[in-house]
Amino acid sequence: MKAVQLTEIGSPLADREVPIPTPSSNEVLVKVRAAGICRSDLHYRNGASPVGTLPLTLGHEVAGEVVDGVVAANDSKEMLGPGTRVCLHYLCTCGACAYCRSGREQFCRRAQMIGKHRDGGYAEFIAIPSRSAVPIPDPISFEHAAVMMCSTSTAVHALRKARLTAGETVAVVGTGGLGMSAVQLALAMGAIAVYALDIDSGRLETAAGYGAVPVRVPKDASPSAAARLLREATGGDGVDVAVELVGLPRTICTAIGALRPCGRAAIAGIGDEPTSLHVYREIIGAEREVIGVSDHTLGDIEYILALADQGRLRFDEVVTGTVPLDAGRINARLDEMAQFAGGVRLVISP
Ligand SMILES: [Zn+2]
Ligand SMILES: [Zn+2]
Repeated sequence: MKAVQLTEIGSPLADREVPIPTPSSNEVLVKVRAAGICRSDLHYRNGASPVGTLPLTLGHEVAGEVVDGVVAANDSKEMLGPGTRVCLHYLCTCGACAYCRSGREQFCRRAQMIGKHRDGGYAEFIAIPSRSAVPIPDPISFEHAAVMMCSTSTAVHALRKARLTAGETVAVVGTGGLGMSAVQLALAMGAIAVYALDIDSGRLETAAGYGAVPVRVPKDASPSAAARLLREATGGDGVDVAVELVGLPRTICTAIGALRPCGRAAIAGIGDEPTSLHVYREIIGAEREVIGVSDHTLGDIEYILALADQGRLRFDEVVTGTVPLDAGRINARLDEMAQFAGGVRLVISP
């Protein structure tokens, strides 16, 4: 079969001819129908994020059709065989350890991410543990299901970790792909108002289209000035929940500063600079909570599929086009991403 692989760090991805994978007894073989091109793939190609053994097929946002093996239906009443439309949790986990059994499979010691530690979806077929393949409700396309497997599922994990309940207010700090998902998800989960913070007025306009109250932060604003702008927009003490999706020290401090007393900040943005804050003033004195968010779980995937099935999530502005399974086209898209150009999300349809 054809696969687009990373053969050397820092070099373009290459078209390769490889054997169709043989699924083991607990795995299914899936014919890939859609695979999202993600910014993380750029980091794997240029070496910014370490990956497993090369050559490696990239692609961790994947949806397709079962061709061999069975998966459990979402209501667990029956096992579904070949022809079932599925989307793939990007973590392959053992299913047997204490973390897997308690729905915290991101911490499974045997977890491997597809398209990073083991072969992913930039190929005609992929083998994956059947527990990682989740049936897709009929109204959801392969393309939309694929892009839900990364930013949407991590955004919902952040909101659930923050214990968002109906009637609360939310600040979304950073309105990239994760932020656009977080705005829609927070409203679908019953938030009474969602404030979107960003320095980019174009992105804020899109967020407002999804129902957010836009709060534009000047590029050189201090975290306390940005948090003050947010509190002014709320007309009060700040928000119950803040979701931080950028990963810079100043956006992390802004998210915490945006909270009213007893508010919860879920930090999902990944950065490598240390953040310093005044623990008494920022956390203890107002009994605020700061919560780490890492990846997402199978439960989060089932939850967002149910929301999308009810038409409560929109992806038409998110998926901006499709490309064939071709190394040249995928490399061109990654080059575009490196320049922060092009649409929101391109999907490969092999
Ligand atoms: Zn991704
Ligand atoms: Zn496990």
